Amino acid sequence: MRHTLVFATNNPHKSREIEQILGPGYEVKTLKEIGCFEDIEETEPTLEGNALLKARYVKQHFGFDCFSEDTGLEVTSLAGAPGVHTARYAGESRDPDANISLLLKNLESAQDRSAQFRTVIALLRGDEEILLEGICKGTITIEKKGDKGFGYDPVFMPEGYDQTFAELGDDVKNQISHRAKATRLLIDTLHKEKA
Ligand code: IMP
Repeated sequence: MRHTLVFATNNPHKSREIEQILGPGYEVKTLKEIGCFEDIEETEPTLEGNALLKARYVKQHFGFDCFSEDTGLEVTSLAGAPGVHTARYAGESRDPDANISLLLKNLESAQDRSAQFRTVIALLRGDEEILLEGICKGTITIEKKGDKGFGYDPVFMPEGYDQTFAELGDDVKNQISHRAKATRLLIDTLHKEKA
């Protein structure tokens, strides 16, 4: 029997991609596909808290097993900021250019430009709550480079590379990114639990 799993996202592309990787045993639905149109506010102070909050909301109100992901950029010299505020670092407009400008300004006098992207996935399956984490370490460049990708990609240079995510593009990024690592753990967990 096909197991229905909700991905707490409104991005159908993301959910189809995971559904295909998981294979025929799983049907992965987005929030809209289960009739959930609420904007679930991310009010917790941690990535873990926000990922759990979204997955618990779906489980409580709609009864489906569910997973949810939350990602933040954590910069060492800024004591882990922007962290949970990554999307709205420079304000509610969630403008990536403004976010990058503020980040570069705040790092102007920093010696240490190390940072990491961290993705947390909360999986609620049956009575279990499982947290999974993917980390990609790197540094924040002095200026923007490259035009691929999104968000902070033009200023994030992953460890072991001399180009930013925005120069490297999806093929490399999908091998080494925080999200790719967390997603691989999710897939392993789901396949293991089914066996
Ligand atoms: P979300 O939790 O996936 O919505 O990510 C929060 C914010 O982190 C996004 O709005 C982006 O600004 C940033 N972000 C997440 N993943 C990436 C990435 O792979 N590259 C660049 N920025 C990212």
